[in-house]
Amino acid sequence: MPRKRRSTKREDALEPYRRRRDFRRTPEPRGTKRARASRKRPRFVVQKHDAGRLHYDFRLEVGGVLRSWAVPKGPSPDPAERRLALPTEDHPLAYADFEGVIPEGEYGAGTVLVWDAGTYRNLDGGRSVAEGLKDGHVEFVLEGSKLKGGWALTRIAAGKDERWLLVKMDDDFASPGSDVLRARPESVLTGRTLAEVAREARGD
Ligand code: MN
Repeated sequence: MPRKRRSTKREDALEPYRRRRDFRRTPEPRGTKRARASRKRPRFVVQKHDAGRLHYDFRLEVGGVLRSWAVPKGPSPDPAERRLALPTEDHPLAYADFEGVIPEGEYGAGTVLVWDAGTYRNLDGGRSVAEGLKDGHVEFVLEGSKLKGGWALTRIAAGKDERWLLVKMDDDFASPGSDVLRARPESVLTGRTLAEVAREARGD
């Protein structure tokens, strides 16, 4: 019985994602079926998204979906930089590979590139990431191309105006004062900039 209940809940997790999108118009993945995790370690992805206002979407694979936050200023490897992270709807795992242009008039219209991707590891030995997120604090190690080492997500406000902070932990991969967003603006998948992704989508 608990098993059935959980699988129902999982299907529902992507309902808000699908409700917002017209898949006849957007090239984003529909993610109808909940994908099974294909590797030992869960994935993370950071997508750079120019939706009028540039931001970075930070996503962690948890329980077969990508839990997601919009980070207006993007992640910083400087532990002194506490970056606001606004929760958004769960995305399908297939979204981790999405790079392209969401057409005008559609939800999230604008250009998306995969800014960083890799796997991550929960730093809390006694609590799952899902439980940590429920409690409002998770610490994890990112194994990406641009982002590495320990990071923490902490909920600072709940309810209608739920807000989190994404902060680099102070370890060997901390880099005070550095600006990886400027230094490495390109897609980790294709090496393209946002302008190049947009231009190719237009067919120029
Ligand atoms: Mn976004």
